[in-house]
Amino acid sequence: MDYLLAEVVGQLETDLISEKEAQDFHQNDREVFQENKIIRRKETVIAPDGEELHYLSVKAPIFVNNQRAIIGFSSDVTEIYKMKEQFRLLANTDYLTNLYNRRFFMEQGEREFSRYKRHNSPFAIISVDIDHFKHINDDFGHPAGDHVLKIVSQLLQKSIRNEDILARIGGEEFTIILPETSLLSAKILAERTRESIQKQIIEYQKEIYIRVTVSLGVTLVKTKDDNFDDVLLRVDEALYEAKENGRNQVCFI
Ligand code: GH3
Ligand code: MG
Ligand code: MG
Repeated sequence: MDYLLAEVVGQLETDLISEKEAQDFHQNDREVFQENKIIRRKETVIAPDGEELHYLSVKAPIFVNNQRAIIGFSSDVTEIYKMKEQFRLLANTDYLTNLYNRRFFMEQGEREFSRYKRHNSPFAIISVDIDHFKHINDDFGHPAGDHVLKIVSQLLQKSIRNEDILARIGGEEFTIILPETSLLSAKILAERTRESIQKQIIEYQKEIYIRVTVSLGVTLVKTKDDNFDDVLLRVDEALYEAKENGRNQVCFI
């Protein structure tokens, strides 16, 4: 935010920034006095136009006329901060479907698993694999296959809740973590998802119409599970069963 010197001198923080931001600033200032040392902090301010601005602030205790005071320097690091956020997003996102990628999925899965071990908060997992997807590529070409992956991703996204985590973990494989969910609810969601994908006619370049089906495995975390991989192994087994039993169906273990 740009101010003229005359606009700032003699003003309180709250004349220029919000109460909450001023409190954060004061907290940092207090720390400088209490610890009597230099501190470095990131400070965030919302500009009048709503943009978030980020500053790296260095504050040091000094004496002026035998009085304790603070001298502080703030550098605008908004651009660097935004870039960092973008890198974080890219590192967790699948480039084709914009869903979370395997990396993020594994991270969240481990987190859910330790939440389960600590607080006994259960979760369900659904694994989704497109049936005979190789044929789609063979019959209509790889770009058509990519298009199908995008549409299936959108349908999956629509069928989950806000708190669920949906990721593309392989070529035509997706997995959903459903926190605080019973086996029954997970099965209902899986079945609804299966139907919505089966019903969809996927239009490609206005001349090709493709239908796909998916097989789904469902499982719940169990007390005997030692780690998140144990849950994944079980959901894989359930998915394998759905494939073995003829595809386009939901199986659970
Ligand atoms: P199943 O019913 O047993 O799952 O058969 P499937 O053909 O779906 O399974 P398989 O694992 O044999 O083949 C998966 C295919 O998915 C093979 C691969 O070429 C294709 N594939 C993987 N990633 C992509 C992608 O990003 N784009 C496209 N178009 N195809 C992909
Ligand atoms: Mg497949
Ligand atoms: Mg597969």
